[in-house]
Amino acid sequence: GATLGVMGGGQLGRMFVHAAQRMGYFTAVLDPDADSPAGRVSHHHIRSDYLDPQGLEQLAAKAQAITTEFENVPAAALEQLARQRPVAPGAAAVAIAQDRAKEKAHFMKCGVACAPHAVIETPQQLAAVADNLLPGILKTSRLGYDGKGQQRVATREELAAAWDVMKRVPCVLEKMLPLAYECSVVVARGQDGAMVSLPVQRNLHRGGILAITEVYDANVPAAAAQQAVASARAVAEGLGYVGVLCIEFFVLGDGSLVVNEMAPRPHNSGHWSIEGSDVSQFELQVRTLAGLPLTQPRALGPSIMLNLLGDIWFRNGGEQVPPWADVLALSGTHLHLYGKTSARVGRKMGHLTVTGASLEQVRSTARRCAELLGIDPF
Ligand code: ATP
Ligand code: MG
Ligand code: MG
Repeated sequence: GATLGVMGGGQLGRMFVHAAQRMGYFTAVLDPDADSPAGRVSHHHIRSDYLDPQGLEQLAAKAQAITTEFENVPAAALEQLARQRPVAPGAAAVAIAQDRAKEKAHFMKCGVACAPHAVIETPQQLAAVADNLLPGILKTSRLGYDGKGQQRVATREELAAAWDVMKRVPCVLEKMLPLAYECSVVVARGQDGAMVSLPVQRNLHRGGILAITEVYDANVPAAAAQQAVASARAVAEGLGYVGVLCIEFFVLGDGSLVVNEMAPRPHNSGHWSIEGSDVSQFELQVRTLAGLPLTQPRALGPSIMLNLLGDIWFRNGGEQVPPWADVLALSGTHLHLYGKTSARVGRKMGHLTVTGASLEQVRSTARRCAELLGIDPF
């Protein structure tokens, strides 16, 4: 049978492998870690650094087409692979998504509004920052995730000090916006340019990390939902993107929409789609990679996803297994654990999706689960 390859062995790779295997594919995972969440469920696990030409050679020899599951895969690795095999998304699109300054320039090019911001790469640029960007958030242009590599700054003095703490690496200063709520859209674009998208996801972040995603009819006003989908499609189209792309948005008090960032892969806020949609974001990734047709996904009913961070293992002091049996005793609960060897505070260990016939029922079950697991009420 055909083999699909993936760069990276984290939980997103693991769920991609599950979807690929269900559809009859073999899989090959490249990850430096001997015991990665995706590597241990894959047919082939190539243990190699992402830039090691031999490892990449092995992956290209095994896989007919290759995708990526983490944002920071080196563009040079994708370029080497692309000389031998179809790679989706391509190195150029991934390179833009990896860099906040390039990403924002791309959004503006596509006519999609983003937060007022300034690129800070030199002391001159720091000095020239407009006062109206403060208070703001200083974000490293590269390698940040889950709110890491970010610092909130209220004054020019704090801004200068924060940039020093970040060792003066290239950064973007974003104006702090008054968010009413956040949402995201997962879009898939095929080799032929056909596009489909998952329903708009309404997201609650806590401490810079996604905590809860809710998907149900009218979870966001129709005008905002339409604008989010249109913007996500414009961004994917503008990149000539092939694969699954997630765009995060801020919705402001007046209902206007501002794009935050994009991820060139399936996204945590789309995990609900495994049980909550007739086609999941991981099946979309398989389909785009294998050149299979895309059909517009349809939500099967309301879904709420709770992220399971390492914190809940430590809520009574020492490490303790959370009460899974109590959660699984409630109908409509779908538990995903990523098989990570150790729990740490802030680490994504798994997620729980709750599905059901009505929003009331799904909400009440999800709230009960949160209570059982020690997740803050929502
Ligand atoms: P991810 O894990 O999603 O890649 P990240 O580290 O790239 O996260 P961002 O998405 O930039 O971080 O920011 C994390 C969260 O911080 C946002 O979802 C939002 O809640 C808040 N935030 C970020 N930028 C702003 C802003 N300009 N104004 C207000 N809140 C913001
Ligand atoms: Mg990010
Ligand atoms: Mg984000």
